Amino acid sequence: MRVLALLDGTLADPDTPLLHADDLGVQRGDGVFETVLVVDGHARELVPHLDRLERSAHLMDLSLPGRASWQRAVDAVIGAWPWGTDPEMVLKLVCTRGVEGRDDAPTGFAMGRQMSSEILRKRANGVSAITLERGHAPDLKDRAPWLLLSAKTLSYAVNMAALREAERRGADEVVFTATDGSVLEGPTSNVVLARGNTLLTTPPASGVLPGTTQGALFRAAERAGWRTRVEPFPATELFHADGVWLASSIRLVTQVHTLDGAQLKADADLHAEITGLYESQY
Ligand code: PLP
Repeated sequence: MRVLALLDGTLADPDTPLLHADDLGVQRGDGVFETVLVVDGHARELVPHLDRLERSAHLMDLSLPGRASWQRAVDAVIGAWPWGTDPEMVLKLVCTRGVEGRDDAPTGFAMGRQMSSEILRKRANGVSAITLERGHAPDLKDRAPWLLLSAKTLSYAVNMAALREAERRGADEVVFTATDGSVLEGPTSNVVLARGNTLLTTPPASGVLPGTTQGALFRAAERAGWRTRVEPFPATELFHADGVWLASSIRLVTQVHTLDGAQLKADADLHAEITGLYESQY
């Protein structure tokens, strides 16, 4: 099942080509996107996702269509989805710089599709991961804004290559590390660890995406009496943590049971508690 809507709120046939061959999103990955989870017609964390879309566009000097356009497209996709038979939808919001040479004419659309069985399997069974170098220092973001660290751009080829590398090495997922050995993020997720009654994640200042799922989890955890910290930590901490998770809109809070071939503490009760905290908000 796929549903496509344009920013004027009209539905389009997802099997009819939409982009021009010289759209800069296609030719250079020059654009921004968001992936939103929609459950039973409710788009989770839509405002933080739209905020982040604007922030990413701003970081790359892309003139993003206004929020009302995105809301129209989101409403159109949600309105056309068969919620009775398919209660979860993966909703992508995409904006490219548009056709080369046409200034200020970005291409934008919203597209919903079904949840993949692979994601459902990862949510249910947890994942094995490997650490891979991302190749930048944790303080590079502000010194080198042209690298667009912490922006959600359409240039995800490196992230996808890292996941294929994980697969080659027999693992499901990746934890990227910075040049000083600190933890960054996954190719499509934030890393969260638990130590005692504290949850910890890497700060966006290190060049990671500010995660909407991690943010929602930390909000709920604080309300339930957990302490939360957003600060750099070395990858070695993952091996001593009480639990490690990869958080993202689509995978939710997926437990990591194995890292670089070593078994992590992957307590089922703690996982249920963390998942319960996140879900308690919806
Ligand atoms: N980090 C990266 C690089 C991502 O691509 C994503 C989401 O796809 C995340 C973190 C998690 O963000 P969110 O929880 O908002 O989905």
